[in-house]
This record gives sequence, C-alpha cells and structure tokens, in this order.
Amino acid sequence: MRLPIIHHPDYQAPLRDNHSFPMSKYGYLREALKARGLLSDTDRLSPAPASEAMMGRAHAPDYVSRAFAEALSVEEVKRIGLPQTPRVLRRSRLSCAGTLLAARFALETGIACNSAGGSHHARHEHGAGFCLFNDVAVAIRALQREGGLGPFLIIDCDVHQGDGTARIFRHDPGVFTLSIHAASNYPFEKTRSDLDIALPDRTGDAAYLNALRETLDRVAAEGPFAMVFYNAGVDVHGDDRLGRLSLTDEGIRARERTVISWARAQNLPLVGVLGGGYDADRERLARRHAILFEEAQKALSV
Ligand SMILES: [Zn+2]
Repeated sequence: MRLPIIHHPDYQAPLRDNHSFPMSKYGYLREALKARGLLSDTDRLSPAPASEAMMGRAHAPDYVSRAFAEALSVEEVKRIGLPQTPRVLRRSRLSCAGTLLAARFALETGIACNSAGGSHHARHEHGAGFCLFNDVAVAIRALQREGGLGPFLIIDCDVHQGDGTARIFRHDPGVFTLSIHAASNYPFEKTRSDLDIALPDRTGDAAYLNALRETLDRVAAEGPFAMVFYNAGVDVHGDDRLGRLSLTDEGIRARERTVISWARAQNLPLVGVLGGGYDADRERLARRHAILFEEAQKALSV
C-alpha cells in the first residue's frame, strides 16, 4: 500500500535570506520524497487552508482572529519568531489542515504523514518558537468535535518539549501527551505533559532508544488509544544546530521504526508530522526528515 503523504507547495513561505528558520527544507523535502518515489506531482494530496473557526477550537478565538487579520502585537510576533505576512499565515493554516487530512487517511490506511506540522510550541492563547498555530491540537479538536474517536495519544520526539501541546490538553482526559526531549533545551521553563522524559545532553543512539522503548511500554499501559500523533522532529541529531542529544541518522531511523512498529502492533493508526530540524545544510536536513517517510512506507509495504 502506498503511504499517504500530505503536501502543499505553500508549506514553504518566503522569508528573508538570513532568517534563522530553515524554511527551504520543505522544498528540499518535497524533492527528496519525489526522488525516492514516495511523492509524485500527479497524485499529490493537498489540504485547503484551515478556517478561523477550526483554529478557534484549539486556540483562543481572540488570538486567532487577530492572527488572521495580521494584527498581532510586536511582542507576540517576536515570541513566534516568524514575520506576520499573508504567506506565513497561509502556511500555518495549510499545515494545520494537512495534519487533519493525514489523520483522516491514517484511519483508512493505518499510517499517513504530513510533510509539515509539529508546531508544538503554539499555546492556546499565543504562538511561540516558530509556531503560529498548533496543528496537532487543531486536528485533534476537529476530530473530537466530529465525535466517536478517542482517546488520542501524542508521542512528541522533537528535541524540544511539546509545551504548547501539553498546555492545550492538560485538562483533557481524552488526550495523553508524551514528550521525550533534551532537559537543557528550549523551552527553558518546562510545562507538564502527562509524561515527560527529559534526557541529558549527548544521550546518543543506544541510551535514547532504550529510554524510548521503556517509555512506550509505560504508555501502552495508559491505553488503549484510538490514534497516535507522532512528532518526528530530527533536531535530536548530533549535527543539528539546536539539538543536544547526539543521535545519528541510523539512530533516527531506529527511532522511527520503533515508534511505527509499536503503533502497528496495537493496530493504532499513526499520523506522522515533521517537527523541528535545524541543520545548516538544508539538503542533508531534508534527507534526515525523509527517513520518517521511508520507514512509514516500508511498514505499509510488508
Ligand atoms: Zn524542536
């Protein structure tokens, strides 16, 4: 079976050349996925931008309406770290709708991936850390509203804590939030997920994978769940500008296999989202992000 991959060319929005957010990785990832035969221009699955009402179920309506009107304050824009432009707004709306669309496909096929998303620092009432809206939260709120599906599990393996997601769902017994991250990394004031695994700097592949397997065993006891959202941030890599956990490409591949096979063993539909990655070499970074898609396709092919 072919892995459903949600993609939109406008996942990449124009930024000034020296901007610290590696926006071009979305274009490089598209090329990498095409080169691997995983994505084609003819049968691309693309979302339509998420509406204001849809965003307002995961975020404060006042924040959403000001973001849609490009009327956020200077401080709010600074906390997000991306400029307030129509294309940046469009990108975030597409990314949220893309994660929801991936969830719909995952219910059919068992696994589906969004080639963007993982905006886990965006909170209910404001954005932060390159995240305008929280795509996973927006998707879960939409599914909850439709009813019949739940509870949800979020496995967040980005090197940074999924603080926005944890806060949005902290009083929601229908969503279990797990974050495995570097203890010493942003956000420096951590919030509480349902389960946080804070790892020391330079953890490395073997210790990381042990911690992951142990954690997944613990989480299985919290289930059963109806669906898992997996944030596969590759900023855990040793070469990443913002990472501290010293994983290798092979370590990341083993991580994706571990999470995917864990979900498959429980017949749990898995929605993969991209998450962070900040390697200065954007092509190398895109290849690293492509590992998730390669492993997801392999799991669907057996
Ligand atoms: Zn990150």
